Amino acid sequence: MMDLIETERILKLAIKNSENLKCEGEVASYIPELANVDQDNFGVSLTTTEGETVSLGDDKFKISIQSISKVIDLIMALEDVGAEKVFSKVGTEPTEYKFNSLIPIEEKVVNPFLNAGAITTSSLISGSDVINKFNRVMKKVSELSNGDEVTFLEEVYKSEMRTTDRNRSIAYYLKSIGIIEGNAEEILDLYVRGCSIGLNVRQLSTIGAVLANGGRSLDNKVQLVEKEVVKTTLALMATCGMYEESGKYLIEVGFPSKSGVGGAILGIIPGKCGVCTYSPRLDESGNSIRGKKVLAEISKTLDLNIFI
Ligand code: GLN
Repeated sequence: MMDLIETERILKLAIKNSENLKCEGEVASYIPELANVDQDNFGVSLTTTEGETVSLGDDKFKISIQSISKVIDLIMALEDVGAEKVFSKVGTEPTEYKFNSLIPIEEKVVNPFLNAGAITTSSLISGSDVINKFNRVMKKVSELSNGDEVTFLEEVYKSEMRTTDRNRSIAYYLKSIGIIEGNAEEILDLYVRGCSIGLNVRQLSTIGAVLANGGRSLDNKVQLVEKEVVKTTLALMATCGMYEESGKYLIEVGFPSKSGVGGAILGIIPGKCGVCTYSPRLDESGNSIRGKKVLAEISKTLDLNIFI
């Protein structure tokens, strides 16, 4: 059981101690709509596996989850077609290359948290057409975030679809080497739709808490994600979730996490809690600068590092 009053005190302190980083970094602008946010906005939320949430700052803003959707894509691909098929197409190793790099996909995609990896896992999600598949994704996200309303950020989606030449080339390349099957445009569309899901920090930390709870709902009544799938997903989040900074981040913060260029970072502390930070200014890798600092600090003060 976590002491919620103490948790809130520590979160407040971490926010205060990260104020010096408030103006550092740049918001993502390669998807033009992402630059239209309040750059100084900040929010943090922690949800325990017992279902209690402490949140501070802006806990209402619907953040574009961006690459955090890769976690959902992976979970759904694993549940829909099984690990053997998924990992015949996507590897399990970290990479020093950027998330949208073309280099690590020569023959097989290096891991599911690169764009190429998530385009591949998206291609394995079952459904009759894109809309049916995306509805399944939205339903899953809604179940995991405790039934709260999940938003589709249409302007973000349209903005990315207009500018996503690089992901389009990745999708067509993957099709040309037989990693993805079917219509490359539709698979790209599904991937970008996932990136445009809008969730606030409380919904994200709830998803984190469900995964921290071994995939069971927080009232322990329903197994929302298969245990085996949770195990695989968390391992890959730990080793590959923060792009080419994953190793350094794991040393500093010490729990499985996944970031997105919308500015959120979702952290999962198995058996304890899910935590999410939001601050849209990013470093060169695409990770939220203030978010990383807050997570490093609360990891230490709340004793959340899984290795020590
Ligand atoms: N939609 C973004 C892209 O494909 C996601 C990248 C990210 O969050 N790192 O480029």
